[in-house]
Amino acid sequence: MSRLVLVLGDQLSADLSSLAAADRQHDRVVMAEVREEASYVPHHPKKIIFLFSAMRHFAAQLREQGWQVDYYPYDAGLDSLCDALQRSAETHQVSEILITRPGEWRLDQQMRDQWPTQLGMSIRLLEDHRFLCSHADFRQWASGPKQLRMEYFYREMRLRSGLLITATGEPEGGRWNYDSENRARYDGTPPCPAPLHFSADPITREVIELVKQNFSHHFGDPEPFVFAVNREQAQTALQYFIDRALPWFGDYQDAMSLHHDHLFHSLLSVYLNAGLLLPMEICKAAEQAWRDGRAPLNAVEGFIRQILGWREYVRGIYWLKMPDYLNENALGSRQPLPALYWGAETRMRCVAEAVRATREHAHAHHIQRLMVTGNLALLLGVDVEQIHRWYLAVYADAYEWVELPNTLGMVMHADGGLLGSKPYAASGKYIQRMSDYCNHCHYNVATSENDDSCPLNSLYWHFISRHQTRFARHPRMAMIYRSWEKMDADRRRRIFARGQWLFEHPETL
Ligand SMILES: Cc1cc2nc3c(=O)[nH]c(=O)nc-3n(C[C@H](O)[C@H](O)[C@H](O)COP(=O)(O)OP(=O)(O)OC[C@H]3O[C@@H](n4cnc5c(N)ncnc54)[C@H](O)[C@@H]3O)c2cc1C
Ligand code: SF4
Repeated sequence: MSRLVLVLGDQLSADLSSLAAADRQHDRVVMAEVREEASYVPHHPKKIIFLFSAMRHFAAQLREQGWQVDYYPYDAGLDSLCDALQRSAETHQVSEILITRPGEWRLDQQMRDQWPTQLGMSIRLLEDHRFLCSHADFRQWASGPKQLRMEYFYREMRLRSGLLITATGEPEGGRWNYDSENRARYDGTPPCPAPLHFSADPITREVIELVKQNFSHHFGDPEPFVFAVNREQAQTALQYFIDRALPWFGDYQDAMSLHHDHLFHSLLSVYLNAGLLLPMEICKAAEQAWRDGRAPLNAVEGFIRQILGWREYVRGIYWLKMPDYLNENALGSRQPLPALYWGAETRMRCVAEAVRATREHAHAHHIQRLMVTGNLALLLGVDVEQIHRWYLAVYADAYEWVELPNTLGMVMHADGGLLGSKPYAASGKYIQRMSDYCNHCHYNVATSENDDSCPLNSLYWHFISRHQTRFARHPRMAMIYRSWEKMDADRRRRIFARGQWLFEHPETL
């Protein structure tokens, strides 16, 4: 009797707990490209190409290491992962199934509640040790403070991991957080590194054709496809980032540029989330660059905070709050998602740029996601489920455990302030300060009440006004409400009327 080890598309790590618990002489690995996972949202074609190609490369690597692998390509026509296990169990005597716990609540529930009955055998779920904070540790942390703020979680993670901590247990440089130094606007110097491109090998080329045939109706350009698809290439991408971009990551972390889609961002999330890179190896590589004098502290601390802090924190929140989290909608946002998110023409330059980058690269950097497409969705009161499904579909790094808290919590404030005490709502001024978009836009960022006024300005005040009851007494928003109240009543009426019209007619944006 052998055991089956199911390896999921985002579990492409050699030291996965399920593989470590198995015996390569007797047990069989099962991997499958199935319809259910490939189409529960209309994933960007580049995301599907990346995952199928990276899975095929990983399966080949496992075979080289002596594993027996049942690999079901998309053409095998299997509907679900459970069907794949069933198929393997039919041809081999199987005693048990080993699986490293999936990242997504939906799949975790299926594996616990449905699969044992469907398959008629037991399933052993193992912890996913690739993360730096276990579910149990996060729950314990969350049972302490009244407010679950990322900053405090992050400090604890710094102490636990020893990253950027002195021998006496203090933060290196004397401060935990260098965010205040990380808000520069980018004026073209220093030059941004050219994005690293990997050429497609025969495996990837075959997958590109498959995806073009089966998923051409999904939003997004399948080609050019330049992602890394195996661990070796992902390690090259990590080194490239450390050498060429990390030194300026901090300064320009919040900047946006018409001419540079990626600026100094790492583009590593897609590899990290699929398991080709591990969070600790990335953080250690960044820390080492600082210790060697190759990158400044504000950059390295800012970068490590994203991975050790934000990434682990949103995962913890997801598992703490699911499944109810999915239905939260504290601001009652229920407007339909405007067609411009799927590429319909818009005269808003900031939005057009973010959607173009998304279509071309299956990537947009954090500030575009948060302050452009996210901010617009918040101000327009877009239905939380619709915007969640959009973010889940269009980015190559999107998995519900990381995407949902960012969208529902950080962007839409739908969790009522669990993730951020106040909404990230912003007017066009923010975009003007952090980018060169406004100089090349149809709209005028300096006004709020005219036909050509920046829509974000009118919508911002509309948002402030329509949520007055909820936020007027919020200590960090009181000043905004005072400015709104102080405005001439006629002007206020005109701004609100324009905001209301845009709110009801987003197709005109
Ligand atoms: C609405 C919205 C949806 C998002 N959806 C996803 C998603 O589906 N998958 C995803 O990995 N990230 C998501 N993010 C977080 C962030 O935007 C991406 O991780 C980042 O843009 C990936 O590009 P990068 O690798 O160049 O990141 P960098 O800017 O180079 O940052 C380094 C790493 O830090 C981590 N990180 C940074 N910010 C966050 C964050 N807020 N939450 C979790 N990890 C973070 C990522 O692993 C990233 O690779 C989302 C953010 C928002 C506002
Ligand atoms: S003017 Fe407004 S819509 Fe145009 S780019 Fe600036 S912020 Fe965006």
